Amino acid sequence: VLRVQAAPILAEGVQPGVLVTLRDISHVEEAEQQRRDFVANVSHEMRSPLTVLAGFIETLKGPAREDPVATANFLDIMEREAQRMTRLVSDLLSLSRVEGEERVRPRDRVSMSEVLRATLAALRPQFEDAGVRVDFTDLPDVPPIAGDRDQLVQVFRNLVENALKYGGSGGRVEVGMRLIEQMPGFTGPVIKVDVRDFGDGIDAIHLPRLTERFYRVDGHRSRAMGGTGLGLAIVKHIVNRHRGRFAIRSTRGEGSTFSVTLPLG
Ligand code: ADP
Repeated sequence: VLRVQAAPILAEGVQPGVLVTLRDISHVEEAEQQRRDFVANVSHEMRSPLTVLAGFIETLKGPAREDPVATANFLDIMEREAQRMTRLVSDLLSLSRVEGEERVRPRDRVSMSEVLRATLAALRPQFEDAGVRVDFTDLPDVPPIAGDRDQLVQVFRNLVENALKYGGSGGRVEVGMRLIEQMPGFTGPVIKVDVRDFGDGIDAIHLPRLTERFYRVDGHRSRAMGGTGLGLAIVKHIVNRHRGRFAIRSTRGEGSTFSVTLPLG
C-alpha cells in the first residue's frame, strides 16, 4: 500500500513544480487491519453468550416462570455461558499482559521440573474424570532457568489441557523433558519439553495458524470444550518472552506433539 502526497512548489526564484512523495504504509495498514479483526472477533465471541443469557432471562420472566424443572435447566445453561464470558475476559487480560511484557526479561530462577509437577498435579482430577493416563518423564536435577514461574505454569496448563481436550481419545498423554547441550539457534544448553497426545491429530494446513488469536480447527468443538481460541496465542508470547521456541508437529490419525524449548541460565 502506497500513500501518495503532492505539494506545489511555488517559491520565488525557483522553477514552479510539484513535489510528490510516495510512502510505503503496508505495515501500518496491516497492523490496523489486524486490530480491526481482533476487535471484531472479541465482539463476536462476547455477543453469543450475551444473546443466550438475554434469551433465557426473557424465557424465565415469561413462559418458564412456573416450571421449576425448566427453570433449573435454564439456570444451568446461563451459568455455563457466564463462565464462558469469564474465561474469555480472563484470557484476554492474560494475552494483553503477556504481549505487554514480551520485551521484559524474566529474572526468577525457575525449576522446570517443579513447574511440570505442579501443572500435572493441578490437572490430575480432569484426567481421572476422563480416564486418560499421563506419563511424565521428569528430570529433577536439571538446573533452574531464568523465567516467570506463573507464566510457565500457564504455558504447560494450556498445552496439557489441550492434549486432554482434543487428543484425549488416544487414552494417554506423554509429558517429557530433556536437557540438550547444543541446539541450532541457541548459544547454550536448552531444556526441551514435549507434550504429546495420541488423538486425531491436526491437518498440516492448520499448523502455522494455530497460534493466531481465535484461530480454531473446529470452532464448534472448541467452544463446546470451553475453549476461547486464545490459549496457544498466550503460549507463543510467553515462550517468546523466555527467548524460547515453540513448535507443533502432528500427524492425522496419530496425534500431536507440542514442544517448548527454553534456554538454560
Ligand atoms: P482453544 O481455547 O480453542 O482450545 P487454543 O489456542 O488452545 O484454543 O487452540 C487452538 C486450536 O488448536 C483449538 O481450537 C484446536 O482446534 C487446536 N488444538 C490445540 N491443541 C490440540 C491438540 N492437542 N490436538 C488437536 N487439536 C488441537
